[in-house]
Amino acid sequence: MLPRRRCPFCRHWYHPDPRLNQRQETCGRPECRQKQKRKSNQLWRAKNPNYFRTPYAQQQKEKYGTRADHKRRYRQQHPDYVRRNAGYVRKWRQKLRQTPVSPTSSDPHASVEAEKTSSRVSP
Ligand SMILES: [Zn+2]
Repeated sequence: MLPRRRCPFCRHWYHPDPRLNQRQETCGRPECRQKQKRKSNQLWRAKNPNYFRTPYAQQQKEKYGTRADHKRRYRQQHPDYVRRNAGYVRKWRQKLRQTPVSPTSSDPHASVEAEKTSSRVSP
């Protein structure tokens, strides 16, 4: 088994998958992988600051509009999609309301600071 490593996001120890070995950066939980992806995207954009500002990118934007423009147009042309999506959103919001906020959640809106410190003392 490979030596265990620490996830930079949730600070949990994990054993990297032997197939990924050195390339594995996180423990593999969806939240941590999402954070890692966001971080690597930011790094990439910092290294390639002009990638989305080329004449080609500008040309594409003039021809097709921004992503928001496209989405607005699509929603106008597909009322059934809007209705279906509204159903998904309603279901998702209900699920959000039902799931209790866990003390280990990294959600900055959930202020459970007192619980967080006590759970660290007695796991
Ligand atoms: Zn993690």
